[in-house]
Amino acid sequence: MKIAILSRNRKLYSTRRLVEAAEANGHEAKVIDVLRCYMNITSLNPTIHYKGEVLEPFDAVIPRIGASVTFYGTAVLRQFEMMNVFPLNESVAVTRSRDKLRSAQLLARKGVGMPVTGFAHNPDDIQDLLKAVGDAPAVIKLLEGTQGIGVVLAETNKAAESVIQAFMGLKANIMVQEFIKEAGGSDIRCFVVGDKVVAAMKRQGPEGEFRSNLHRGGSASLVRLTPSERATAVRAAKIMGLGVCGVDLLRSNHGPVVMEVNSSPGLEGIEAASGKDVAEIIIKHLEKRVAEMSNSASRSRTRGKG
Ligand code: ADP
Repeated sequence: MKIAILSRNRKLYSTRRLVEAAEANGHEAKVIDVLRCYMNITSLNPTIHYKGEVLEPFDAVIPRIGASVTFYGTAVLRQFEMMNVFPLNESVAVTRSRDKLRSAQLLARKGVGMPVTGFAHNPDDIQDLLKAVGDAPAVIKLLEGTQGIGVVLAETNKAAESVIQAFMGLKANIMVQEFIKEAGGSDIRCFVVGDKVVAAMKRQGPEGEFRSNLHRGGSASLVRLTPSERATAVRAAKIMGLGVCGVDLLRSNHGPVVMEVNSSPGLEGIEAASGKDVAEIIIKHLEKRVAEMSNSASRSRTRGKG
């Protein structure tokens, strides 16, 4: 196969590993910087130009689109789809997963366990919003935040009200969430490929920190998942319509709750913690899906809902 890897930087661990795994399995892999692509949206003959040349045809495309380039990146991915290149994750699914509210609404609609969550732009009554999530302690999140920045734990209703007021003063969209104390500052990253969790790790925040993000000084270790955690992760991936993703769970008293579904999950932490060749598993999955697709007429059908 000829595989396009949409990534801004070929030196990134995940990008390098995917290229290695593709080549080790007899494929050709080309790293393409989405921001250097420009497109010709012509009836019946879509093309992509890259660094002054028309891109050659590919069999499959692996999107590794960073949060900051979602809009343009998914447009480029859509152009690949219009050219009948099989996407590891479809553009609609990537767009869906990048919108935290849309994702939460979709998962909730399908009955997936989640922390009780309220969201607001400018509520008249902050106390009522807090009451809806069961009062303090509560976690307040900026919708635009990543890597744990903009995630605040408010121990009391008074503190929560001040934080909410401050965020609102900045005209930010926020989410207010039940604090899952029993998770003990840890979360579980489930790496889903197709309909299986192929690797998992537990991330633990440093002493006194409720956020487990590795970027905030958290550490990763191997974890054994329960059947219900596996089932929850696979279900969340399916609802989002993602072939490959990272599903982040918290272990709550009422079972696993999904916090986030990430459509470009990093390989470094998970390969180190699990000792598995996740890049190879992804390439093998892609081979299978491309073969299935070329044998079926449903090439352009959209997976997932909403
Ligand atoms: P980001 O997308 O910025 O990483 P998250 O929503 O994943 O933000 O939150 C960062 C970390 O904070 C999580 O990995 C988790 O450890 C912790 N956390 C987030 N929400 C909750 C919650 N409702 N209860 C307990 N811990 C939480």
